[in-house]
Amino acid sequence: MVLKCNNCGYEGSKAEFKYLHLADSAGPNSYRLCPKCQFAHYCDELEEGEQFTGEGVWGAGPLRGKVFKKKGKNE
Ligand SMILES: [Zn+2]
Repeated sequence: MVLKCNNCGYEGSKAEFKYLHLADSAGPNSYRLCPKCQFAHYCDELEEGEQFTGEGVWGAGPLRGKVFKKKGKNE
């Protein structure tokens, strides 16, 4: 997948666009920096069909619907 900078038009792989931070408190979308002009881009992380690295999807199956709590994180 190639990302294109809306500001300067630079095109590069996602690896070239430095990961900045999450765009939403919940969800995989993030901001990434253009390596050329340092413009921050909103990036849909699911667009590529990459592995989902967020929280919560690992428990499908018989445990579906149950609420999991991570020890020491949400309390
Ligand atoms: Zn740019």
